[in-house]
Amino acid sequence: MPQRTRRPKLGQNFLVSATAQAAIADALGDVSHRTVVEIGPGRGAITAILARRAQRLIAIELDRELAPRLQADFAGQPGVEILQKDILETDFAALRAASQEKLLVVGNLPYYITSDILLRLFRFHASIERAVIMVQREVADRIAASPGTRDYGLLSATTRMYARIEKLLTLPPGAFSPPPQVHSTVLRLTFAPRFDELKVAPEDFLAFLRISFAQKRKMLGKNLRTAGEDAQRVISAFEASGVNPQSRAEELDLPQMACLFRQLRLLR
Ligand code: SAM
Repeated sequence: MPQRTRRPKLGQNFLVSATAQAAIADALGDVSHRTVVEIGPGRGAITAILARRAQRLIAIELDRELAPRLQADFAGQPGVEILQKDILETDFAALRAASQEKLLVVGNLPYYITSDILLRLFRFHASIERAVIMVQREVADRIAASPGTRDYGLLSATTRMYARIEKLLTLPPGAFSPPPQVHSTVLRLTFAPRFDELKVAPEDFLAFLRISFAQKRKMLGKNLRTAGEDAQRVISAFEASGVNPQSRAEELDLPQMACLFRQLRLLR
């Protein structure tokens, strides 16, 4: 495809390392009988590999110049659809509708909307089996962090409620054109929501996590009281759940958080 001026606002750092392109496509596994959705195909670096492998490939590109170019490039391939639209308005359930199996998602993400894209994927978790995504290295560290570590926070806890997380590889700025300011890391998320296992309702528990991590360095009990929980009930819930009342949210794993949440609800 001929070069064009990139739009920095759309997070356009194109992946030029052929090894990395192949590694990302390989990380999706066998796609020969699957529908793959690509987020932000750009100039088609990963698209071209997956177009040869997938039964069906739906690539969603917001840029009004790149999308028609991709449509022209892949016009001869009936299994490939290029949609010019915003991934944040994409209905993954509708994309899956025709296929028995869940979707596989891939993308070298536009970094400015990484969290919003993740939340969108979580919202449609029932339609997605796994996602291989490239994000800024520091964001990958936060997503993949374990409880009790410096990077663990709301993003890590929320992602862990929906998926198992693997860090696959980290790339230097030189793997992209133009090079970004940051290193990038490829993550694989295998969707396996934990709400049933932890006996919590998704909306309520996610709201509880947001409150719990509102001021990360403060004690969890303080955050709960600031959000309007009754002080005595908070003390009782810590006692009943066996969680140390001096804890910060970042020190607790999800079963402990869920236990505390259930006790608070029981005491209402
Ligand atoms: N996949 C290509 C690659 O690896 O070279 C391009 C990756 S580039 C980091 C991110 C791509 O996402 C750009 O092509 C950009 O135009 C596109 N993009 C940005 N915001 C988007 C949105 N809201 N919905 C869909 N695509 C978007």
